Amino acid sequence: MDTRIGLYIHIPFCRQKCLYCDFYSVQYSENLTGLYISVILKQLQGLSQDFSSIYIGGGTPSILSLDLSDKLLSGLKKFIKPDIEFVIEVNPESMASEKLKLFLDKGVNRISIGVQSFDDKKLKALGRVHNAKQAAQAIELSKKSGFKNVSIDMIFGVAEENLKAWQDELKKAAEFDIQHISCYSLSYEKSTPLFRMREKKEIAPIDDEVMAEMYRYTMSYLPDNGFNHYEVSSFSKPGFECRHNLNYWDNNPYVGLGSSAVSYIDGTRSENVRDTEEYIDRYEKDASIIVYKEKLSALKMAKETAGVKIRVKQGIDYDWFKNKTGFDFEDILEKGVLDELSKDNLLEYKIDKATRERRGIMLTEKGFLFSDTVSSAFL
Ligand code: SF4
Repeated sequence: MDTRIGLYIHIPFCRQKCLYCDFYSVQYSENLTGLYISVILKQLQGLSQDFSSIYIGGGTPSILSLDLSDKLLSGLKKFIKPDIEFVIEVNPESMASEKLKLFLDKGVNRISIGVQSFDDKKLKALGRVHNAKQAAQAIELSKKSGFKNVSIDMIFGVAEENLKAWQDELKKAAEFDIQHISCYSLSYEKSTPLFRMREKKEIAPIDDEVMAEMYRYTMSYLPDNGFNHYEVSSFSKPGFECRHNLNYWDNNPYVGLGSSAVSYIDGTRSENVRDTEEYIDRYEKDASIIVYKEKLSALKMAKETAGVKIRVKQGIDYDWFKNKTGFDFEDILEKGVLDELSKDNLLEYKIDKATRERRGIMLTEKGFLFSDTVSSAFL
């Protein structure tokens, strides 16, 4: 039985809101961060699980002062063990060598940098605070400080970007001696300024076919340059897959601390209140911080497992699925769904060479382009 369990801590503070962002984040305030971290520290005292990974995400975790970072990381000391993956997200504008040194001293062993682009114009179009020079410096500084597992996030498909520009960015990204690159296509989420700008025709989104071409190029260029494509958006040097995220895609449990964070424990999913001040207030008044809770049925858990696991390159192995969920994979789906997806060339069957039986399914190249369609067909 798989016993891996992740810990996620949400740091919701950012210098300013990026134009495309629909994550929960608020304007940085020194006073609020102090109160927030003291609540997180108290919550950590109540936890005793043997976590396989810790992920501090945001927001912008690197925006915390050196002192608050020290307090938070010290509060996590009891969870540190030799084989744990301990990740922190950072943004280029708020990185400094003292912070990186502190992270390393406190056991952080993977750093994930929100680079997004090496092009000033594109960074501006995204509303990022940093510039291209800072992005490159952030990578070099992480390596120089001693991080041996450096990941960067990149975005493609920004208005006015063309295939050649994305190819140049990928080349630059791959030339850094780093271990992991996540590439996300820009999406226009309803609550964002970018969405409204598109509605008002202030910006023109790039053509779907160009977007698909950019992704197809990514799927061939990065593997040709040493990065395995192991999940829809994730590419890594061998052995540097993000274990915390693999845990999500295996639909394993996780504890989420902080405003808007989600937990998934013993088949129950719960979501914390989004508003940061309310989160602090509720905690201090001993009121529940949970605003949504659902106990999933065994069938729903199985379907969700299918929906997330299909994102990984090796797809779903039927034996693994049965062992994990107790269900035969093909029994949980509507009749004909798999054949339909296979006929549309979105997924392929894994066939046992000796018996010619189906042993599993995986996304095709076209399936990677439409992974959300495939995932939703399983739910
Ligand atoms: S830094 Fe990240 S979390 Fe903060 S506003 Fe920008 S995209 Fe959103």
